[in-house]
Amino acid sequence: MTIHEGTALDPSFAKEESVTALKQSQKNAANPARSGFGLRDAVKEEVTGDYDSPLVAQIRLQGNLHQAGRITFRLAKEFGFCYGVDHALSLAYETHRRFPDKTIYLTGEIIHNPSVNQRLQEMGYRFLTPQDVVTEKDVVLIPAFGTPVDQLSRLQDTGCLLVDTTCGSVVHVWNRVERYAKDGFTAVIHGKYHHEETEATRSQTQLHQGGKYLVVRDREETQEVCDFILGNRTTEQFQDRFKSVASPDFNPERDLQRIGLANQTTMLSSESLEIADMLRQAIEKRHGQDEIKQRFRSFDTICSATQERQDAVLELIQEPLDLMLVLGGYNSSNTTHLAEISALTCPTFHIDKPDCLLSATKIRHQPVHSKSEIISENWLPTGVITIGVTAGASTPNRVVGDCIERIVELTSALQD
Ligand code: SF4
Repeated sequence: MTIHEGTALDPSFAKEESVTALKQSQKNAANPARSGFGLRDAVKEEVTGDYDSPLVAQIRLQGNLHQAGRITFRLAKEFGFCYGVDHALSLAYETHRRFPDKTIYLTGEIIHNPSVNQRLQEMGYRFLTPQDVVTEKDVVLIPAFGTPVDQLSRLQDTGCLLVDTTCGSVVHVWNRVERYAKDGFTAVIHGKYHHEETEATRSQTQLHQGGKYLVVRDREETQEVCDFILGNRTTEQFQDRFKSVASPDFNPERDLQRIGLANQTTMLSSESLEIADMLRQAIEKRHGQDEIKQRFRSFDTICSATQERQDAVLELIQEPLDLMLVLGGYNSSNTTHLAEISALTCPTFHIDKPDCLLSATKIRHQPVHSKSEIISENWLPTGVITIGVTAGASTPNRVVGDCIERIVELTSALQD
């Protein structure tokens, strides 16, 4: 069955059919492959060999401190792979071990790290494209971010074997958003509209008839939503600004009467809390305190791994650092937020791989709030210095260790 079967004449009937099919898909998603193939121990060595770093393991034993010549490296208390990424990669390696001769597709990047995605492609994984015809003979892996409910439904219709690596913390957000839709609350999601996780999260509202969402990226956008709630912005102004990031047929007069907050798990925690507060205050001001329970809900859905890594950077930048290196994919939301926090007080260089360390005087990096790399000169101060190091939840320790070794190599070459 395809989810839009029989939709021709009655749009409301079609919508009910679609909702029912999507709900059925969700039930079916309790796929045995979600918990693996019993090969976790068998692939452990391979995963460790690909992503771990003996140097980083040693530095952890030394209290996250490493001295090399004139440079002291201070590593954040928490950095690198989170539990969700560990789980997703273990499942990917298990799947490859279990089905060595099958085509295994990925619906998108398994996590936002170039070296990890490259490694999976070397193993034979293929990114699913619109031209691919998936059959019951294929295996399809859903990344840690999850996938939208309509794509999941289409894949289930093919009869392929689905291996679902969606992180439990993402599913937690989905449950919250689905609950909002069920109870008639519009889900206001603090996130990036086109981020895979937010695409999957907002799609959860489709599981209930009339479910609505609105995605806000930051405080500035939230202020504009608050302005509308308070009557300081017209419907036309609102639609001009937000039509492309809200559910179809979004009517701000109707759909901002009752709202529930959720956030992409990897957003800046302090900003998510502030956004929830701004919207709560706007609803309270507009409708009065007695109405707040009926009109506003909020649950902090930042995952614990993101929170711990952000807290660790806040702690690390209290130390006297000469610069901070933030390591991870440029499209990794949690990594870019670590760089944002660090840059508040410390010269910060966000790089995605050791090759970015061009020399002791040149570095290729992506500045905070920028969308492209630049090359900066004289990035490494002379004399005795301390470098802070952190890495996003999708960055292998191997990358961290290789970057440290590269800096040591570059500075030793100068001394020779
Ligand atoms: S960053 Fe958080 S939500 Fe994302 S995979 Fe890791 S633990 Fe899960």
